[in-house]
Amino acid sequence: MRTHRIAAIGGDGIGPEVIAAGCRVLDAVAQAQGGFAFAFETFDWGSEMYRRTGKMMPDDGLKALEGFDAIFFGAVGAPDIPDHITLWELRLAICQGFDQYANVRPTKLLPGVRGPLREDLGKQIDWVIVRENSEGEYAGVGGRAHRGLPIEVAMDVAVFTRDGVARICRHACEVAMARPRRHLTVVTKSNAQRHGMVMWDEVCAEITAQYPALTVEKMLVDAMTARMVMKPGSVDTVVATNLHADILSDLASALAGSLGIGATGNIDPQRRRPSMFEPIHGSAFDITGKGIANPLGSFWTASMMLEHLGEPAAAQRLMRAVEAVTARGTVLTPDLGGTATTVEVTNAVIAALEGAN
Ligand code: ATP
Ligand code: MG
Repeated sequence: MRTHRIAAIGGDGIGPEVIAAGCRVLDAVAQAQGGFAFAFETFDWGSEMYRRTGKMMPDDGLKALEGFDAIFFGAVGAPDIPDHITLWELRLAICQGFDQYANVRPTKLLPGVRGPLREDLGKQIDWVIVRENSEGEYAGVGGRAHRGLPIEVAMDVAVFTRDGVARICRHACEVAMARPRRHLTVVTKSNAQRHGMVMWDEVCAEITAQYPALTVEKMLVDAMTARMVMKPGSVDTVVATNLHADILSDLASALAGSLGIGATGNIDPQRRRPSMFEPIHGSAFDITGKGIANPLGSFWTASMMLEHLGEPAAAQRLMRAVEAVTARGTVLTPDLGGTATTVEVTNAVIAALEGAN
């Protein structure tokens, strides 16, 4: 029997609620599927700990996570603590500390869910956005000078390295190759940003040439936003910089109908250290403690994690169970127009696992 060791970090707001639901569903999938089991360890890191101790996680936090097979992460953020603390000292500390350089977001419109696009267009959404997660526009390089004077300057320097571009492009090629359409869109802004973006184009051309079975398309990021709305079926796998893919993946999630459904993996494709999987939504304090948080994002996240752990059959089974519940449309949380609670949706998905093999 294989045992997958999972570090569960619920974090803030509805994070612990949806992660608890996700752990229940993972145990149920393992039981239904057979052959493997989970060992969860829960870490109560986040804003509560910060208020008590001045730290979002203990100093040796990364060390504590190192031996796990994956990290299952809820959300961070609290109204009374600035983002540069909640985000940077926990979530990004893990992403950077473990060099999880690929942020991967699958997006599709689940059956029964209404997105903002016309129905025939919405149905065409079936994308994976691969975001560079370690450098680029968010490298934190830059500065300000002459504060308050007319000559004040502020700079954010986008830092791109050849290796950094090559490794994210390679991972995007692998993701695209594993999908039926084998289509990759490389997104840059090389008509306006003439250094880093031009190097992206060059390096991506070199890497994608090593994958002759892929069809590769180049797009400018502005045109890409229009493309995703007007011709969603022409997009499959997308690779872009930290900033560009941040924006594209928010657009993708909005087009797919609800913040409560989407999932993301922060992945180290080389598997040197654990990767981290999280629903895309934030801490959502307006509904915290009410028992109505939509757990489907956490279940999709769990499915991604199963895939990463080498359990593809269980991953697909879980997604089919989620889709069976959304398609039926009778047990949904209020954000999807229903009246069900987190626990009721969780029970419905667990029940649907039986028919989903
Ligand atoms: P953060 O600051 O961490 O982004 P937030 O409070 O802005 O957190 P978001 O997750 O960005 O919360 O979500 C915005 C709103 O969408 C929430 O206030 C909530 O009403 C709704 N929402 C988000 N996730 C869910 C969910 N899983 N289930 C139900 N509603 C959700
Ligand atoms: Mg938010």
